[in-house]
Amino acid sequence: MSKLYDVVIIGGGPAGLSAALYAGRARLSVLLLERDKDGGQIVITSEIENYPGCLEGESGPTLIDRMAKQAEHFGAEKVYDDVLEVKLEGQEKVLVGKKGEYRAKSVIIATGASPRDIGCKNEKDYIGKGISFCATCDASFFEDFEVYVVGGGDTAVEEAMYIAKFARKVTIIHRRDELRAAKSIQEKAFANPKLEFMWDTVVEEVNGDGVLESMKVKNVKTGEVKEIVADENDGTFGLFGFIGYLPKTQIFKGIINMENDYIVTDEDMQTNISGVFAAGDVRVKSLRQVVTACADGAIAAVQAEKYVENM
Ligand SMILES: Cc1cc2nc3c(=O)[nH]c(=O)nc-3n(C[C@H](O)[C@H](O)[C@H](O)COP(=O)(O)OP(=O)(O)OC[C@H]3O[C@@H](n4cnc5c(N)ncnc54)[C@H](O)[C@@H]3O)c2cc1C
Repeated sequence: MSKLYDVVIIGGGPAGLSAALYAGRARLSVLLLERDKDGGQIVITSEIENYPGCLEGESGPTLIDRMAKQAEHFGAEKVYDDVLEVKLEGQEKVLVGKKGEYRAKSVIIATGASPRDIGCKNEKDYIGKGISFCATCDASFFEDFEVYVVGGGDTAVEEAMYIAKFARKVTIIHRRDELRAAKSIQEKAFANPKLEFMWDTVVEEVNGDGVLESMKVKNVKTGEVKEIVADENDGTFGLFGFIGYLPKTQIFKGIINMENDYIVTDEDMQTNISGVFAAGDVRVKSLRQVVTACADGAIAAVQAEKYVENM
C-alpha cells in the first residue's frame, strides 16, 4: 500500500509550492503532485515586477525555480502525475493519478485556473511576447504603445481602461456590435479619449519576428479581413485577452462546493470537506496573483498542520 502522507498538495504553481514550503517546515510529510512542469501559469511570463522582493528582470521561470528549490529544501516530495479522481470523504483521502494512487490525511487543492485563449492562429507563440491575459501584470510594459483588448464584458472593459493609463491608445475588439459590460462601466469607457472600439470583429491570426508585429482581424458580419501592423517606431503592440478564465476544478465537481466553478473556502482556506483546503487561483477570490496565491498556500498549510495534529 502507498505511503500515507500528512498532506498531499495537488498543483505545483505558486500556491502549491508555498503550501509545500510551509508544510515541509512544519515537519509534515508532504507530497506535491504536478501534472505538467513546475510553476503553473507564471512560467509563461518573461517578466514579473509585482511580486514583493522579486529581482530586477525576474522572469516567471527564475522565480519558480527558487520557490521549487526552497520547498524541496524543507523536505517536500514531488511526483509528476495528473490527478484524475479524488476520494475526499473520511479520514483517509485517496487521490487517483494517471501513474498511481496517493493517500493523505489532508489535501490542499492548488490546481489553479487558466485564461481562455483568444482563439487565433499562432497565439501560443506570442504569449508573453505581445499577447497577455493579465493587465495588472503586464500593462506597464506597454507604456506609450498601442494595445488591443479582446472581449466585451465587465472585465475586458475595466481592464482596457486600466491599460489606457499606460498605453497611447487602446482598441477594444468585440465580436458583437455592443458591449456586454454594465452600463455604468460602458459610460466611463465611451467617455475615455484613449479608448476606441472595433465592433463585430475577431482576431484570426497573429504574426511577428520574435515579438507580436501584426495581426489579421475579421469582420464577422461582412467577412472582410484586414491586417493590423505595429507602428514603425514601436515595432510591436499589445494584445490582451479577457474572455474569461477556466478554473481547473473538473475533478472536484459534485464533491467540493463551488461558485461559478471556483472553489468556495473560508478565510482559512477550508472547503466544505474536513481536512480539504483550497489555495490560489482555483478559489473564489478578488485578486488572482502570485502574491495572493502564495499567501493562500501558506494559510492552507498551517491549517492542514492543525488538522493533522488534531486528528
Ligand atoms: C500570462 C500571465 C502573466 C501573469 N503575470 C503575473 C504577474 O506578473 N504577477 C502576478 O502576480 N501574477 C501574474 N499572473 C497570475 C499568476 O500567474 C497566477 O495568479 C498564479 O500563477 C496562480 O497560482 P496558483 O498556484 O493558484 O495556480 P497555477 O499557477 O494555475 O498553478 C496550478 C498548477 O496546478 C497544476 N494542476 C492542475 N490540475 C492538476 C491536476 N489534476 N493534477 C496535477 N496538477 C494539476 C497545473 O498544471 C499548474 O501547474 C499571470 C498570469 C498569466 C497567465
